[in-house]
Amino acid sequence: MFCVLRKVCWRRPGARRGVCTRHPTPAPRVRFAPSPTGFLHLGGLRTALYNYLFSRQRGGAFLLRLEDTDRSRLVPGATDDIEDMLEWAGIPPDESCRRGGDYGPYVQSERLQLYSQAASTLLQTGHAYYCFCSNQRLDLLKRDAQRSGQVPRYDNRCREVPPEQVQQKLAQGTPCVIRFKLDSGAEVFQDLIFGWTRHDPAAAEGDPVILKADGFPTYHLASVVDDHHMNISHVLRGSEWLISTSKHLQLFRALRWTPPAYAHLPLLLNRDGTKLSKRQGDIFVQRFREQGVLPETLLDIVTHAGSGFSDNRIGRRLDELVCEFNISKITTHSALLDLDKLDEFNRVHLQHRIEDEEHCAVLLDELRQQVLHTHGSRISDRSVLEPHYMQRVLQLRKGHVCSLRELLDHTHTYLWIRPKVTRQQLQEVSTEVDDITAAVMQLVASSGSFLSTEHLNSELKLIASRLKNTKYSGAMRVLRLALSAQQQGPSVAEMMVSLGEQEVCVRLQKALEANTP
Ligand code: GLU
Repeated sequence: MFCVLRKVCWRRPGARRGVCTRHPTPAPRVRFAPSPTGFLHLGGLRTALYNYLFSRQRGGAFLLRLEDTDRSRLVPGATDDIEDMLEWAGIPPDESCRRGGDYGPYVQSERLQLYSQAASTLLQTGHAYYCFCSNQRLDLLKRDAQRSGQVPRYDNRCREVPPEQVQQKLAQGTPCVIRFKLDSGAEVFQDLIFGWTRHDPAAAEGDPVILKADGFPTYHLASVVDDHHMNISHVLRGSEWLISTSKHLQLFRALRWTPPAYAHLPLLLNRDGTKLSKRQGDIFVQRFREQGVLPETLLDIVTHAGSGFSDNRIGRRLDELVCEFNISKITTHSALLDLDKLDEFNRVHLQHRIEDEEHCAVLLDELRQQVLHTHGSRISDRSVLEPHYMQRVLQLRKGHVCSLRELLDHTHTYLWIRPKVTRQQLQEVSTEVDDITAAVMQLVASSGSFLSTEHLNSELKLIASRLKNTKYSGAMRVLRLALSAQQQGPSVAEMMVSLGEQEVCVRLQKALEANTP
């Protein structure tokens, strides 16, 4: 088993040296801890992926924990979507609600007892207190602060409630929450990405609620309790949580637990520097999947934005991401996600799939379904549904198309359906239609089979050079029209190789014979 040295550093301001303890720990345990308040989006996928890469590289475990304590914001279906999308992306958790594991339950609403135990411990040791302030009082504090242009904060009044009064109020069943006593003075800690970091939560906010009136914990308590009980060694999460980390470290210390190491990932932004918003609706993983984006494309593109690699080449697959990932290469500046490059990434990854026998078999199946779905009854020659035909199409089109769906657009209809073209249409392009088609049919008859597009290209050039009144481009327009009824598309040679000799002859013949469309 791989073993890492975990370094936990504490340093108070003014102290000469931080307390550095080195614990030999087993392989790392990391977690992705989304709130099921929405479906999995690219920001979440990036956090999950970096956790996955970190754990795989060190032979550790990657777990999925659902942080569902904010009951009012739960979105139906989000829990399933998150795990479904991780599975689809090829980065399934080792432990989760669905998969089980030794540290469950993996959803916070089923761990309430652990949080109330921790809150009791904090009450007993004087690190927490009951707060009986009414909502009206808290609203008043908020409004007063806003009126004087200050950030609203709780004034810690209930810290001072005498113990007898607390007991009395509890006995009377007065609604209350539990708050954590923040230490004043900033503690510095070493983030694996941001380096030495310092935040003084007590300077910015009042004592935070850790257990709400309904018995549910707030995020801060729940995440600390779970990171401890789930034996999490490294927390890799978005940098929006960096300023909360001091608070988490205070909680760990108050509970006398060893904190994990922290690594905060830079913010993920749109290419124009705006916040990657879930509300735009177009960053949900599910949406990309529906659009035919390959999972490896999404993984590759989010690592381009998030850094963590020595170079930025396109086309890294998951095993390569695992090998090449280097946490020390993650930068602190915001990462810009360039979704305009999605097609380019997908083209490269689709090509990889086509070149891989196992993946290609799946693609053939998908393509067949899609062709049937799109063109169905209009397909006159069923042999276009044969694997050997489709395989040839994929081999010829790889590196040109970005998705299978592209093979169904109008420029590719000729692959599946015979075009309707008339002799007259061809004659509008050239006066030598008969010479051109006759020469091509003779080529087909003599060669028996098309060897390659290169070979055909030179043969077509030769045929065109023998024409009296038609240039090479004109001859190609005639052939393109006869074979596809299109003015644009793949090269004529490629069209001929995909269609096969017999079909080329049939189409040329039909076009010559047809006087009406
Ligand atoms: N539930 C938090 C979120 O959705 C997790 C933060 C953390 O990883 O600690 O962002």
